[in-house]
Amino acid sequence: MLVEQIVTYAIVLVFCAAVVFIYLRKLKKASAVVEAKIEKAKQEGLYEPVSLHPVIDLGTCIQSGACVSACPEKDILGIVNGRAALINASNCVGHGACFHNCPVEAISLVIGTEKRGVDLPHVNQEFESNIPGIYIAGELGGMGLIKNSVEQGQAAVESIVRAGFGGDASVLDLVIVGAGPAGISASLTAKKHGLNFLTLDQDTLGGTVFSFPRSKIVMTAPMDLPLYGKVKLYDTSKTELLSLWQSVLANNNISIRENTKVESIGKAGAHFCVQTNRGDEFKAKKVLLAIGRRGTPRKLGIPGETLEKVAYRLLEPEHVQDKKVIVVGGGDSAIEAALSLASQNKVLLSYRSEAFSRIKPKNRDKLNDAIGRGKLEVKYKSNLVRIEAGKAVLALDNAGQVELENDLVYIFAGGELPTQFLEKAGVQITKRFGYTVKKHR
Ligand SMILES: Cc1cc2nc3c(=O)[nH]c(=O)nc-3n(C[C@H](O)[C@H](O)[C@H](O)COP(=O)(O)OP(=O)(O)OC[C@H]3O[C@@H](n4cnc5c(N)ncnc54)[C@H](O)[C@@H]3O)c2cc1C
Repeated sequence: MLVEQIVTYAIVLVFCAAVVFIYLRKLKKASAVVEAKIEKAKQEGLYEPVSLHPVIDLGTCIQSGACVSACPEKDILGIVNGRAALINASNCVGHGACFHNCPVEAISLVIGTEKRGVDLPHVNQEFESNIPGIYIAGELGGMGLIKNSVEQGQAAVESIVRAGFGGDASVLDLVIVGAGPAGISASLTAKKHGLNFLTLDQDTLGGTVFSFPRSKIVMTAPMDLPLYGKVKLYDTSKTELLSLWQSVLANNNISIRENTKVESIGKAGAHFCVQTNRGDEFKAKKVLLAIGRRGTPRKLGIPGETLEKVAYRLLEPEHVQDKKVIVVGGGDSAIEAALSLASQNKVLLSYRSEAFSRIKPKNRDKLNDAIGRGKLEVKYKSNLVRIEAGKAVLALDNAGQVELENDLVYIFAGGELPTQFLEKAGVQITKRFGYTVKKHR
């Protein structure tokens, strides 16, 4: 009897030890995979966060993996030796899904790192900058995400209304610069309060999300849209969100002045003077900057760049068919655009340097594959020098200039950051190194 018991215990013990051993080996293997990804990210310059990113409190993390599965971008976070770790942190777009899903509140959202600072304008709790009358809302102030920007757009206009406007009815109460989530919500709030206001956008309604070739949009919590109510869209699409915004604005008779870039904001007596690239000049008592952080697409400054066939973003690649396309740029946006056009068009990717650095590994693989299959041609060390109807001229390193048949040009040459624009308006900016914007209490 005793022998039987000992044997049973021994079997159970061996079984348990085997289970633990298999589990630990599995963990070790999974950790090794993530560690290899981290190493690759370091080599490719994607490990260091660019702006908003999660910071994990390793003492609190319980390896639930909730943050990893919540992140829609994939491979931003992974688990190493039982704890969450950053992988391709520079690809983080600041959804904050990891922050909201962590069951033990081990994640904070931080802007910049000890080594890499991020420029943030000065704003007080009323969203007013150091220039009285100039307010800032949305991602420009440091807080990303659609929901946050919508909340801030509304809160900023409520502050503006509380501060009051004074006299002169011939002057606009408010000019809202930018019609992304913050500018839309600010416009609705301005309407709610019966303000005499104007909203301008250098591009079209919708903001940053709409300039990226990805249809899925994630919102981790419902948001309150002024004059509409609760928006309960969690996993939605750009089209759905855009049509919601369009209909709410239309129902409230708000029209956004699109394709109008604000070039400068100056003081004209007691008022602000807002000047646009179309030569308009608007006088306003208050200005709300809801211009986001992506800036203005950089122009090449070459002849023909104002032709209609030239664009700085690609929205619906599936609608571009059988065209001769030149895509300019060496970043992920250029490569993603070129790849999305390559199967149904003749695409040439022009890049001024001799190799692509700092691109997502997934894009590198897809690019090599497309080049290998003859779907896409890349001209390194090349510069577009002239664009004309039906053609374009490319200068090649050591090989002179070539004239190419061309229907469309997409330019992804980075952007002019809003910093310069803010400085011109007198708004103070500070570089923040590892500034925590969201922490669980
Ligand atoms: C690839 C990607 C995916 C994302 N996915 C999500 C997601 O799924 N869910 C989510 O919640 N967040 C997402 N985000 C973050 C989200 O897009 C931003 O946090 C949000 O759009 C910020 O809103 P905003 O109104 O402050 O600025 P923006 O959306 O950047 O809008 C600013 C607007 O100002 C205009 N503007 C700029 N300068 C001027 C000027 N001088 N004159 C006139 N107009 C000007 C621009 O044209 C733009 O329309 C994503 C971001 C990226 C990059």
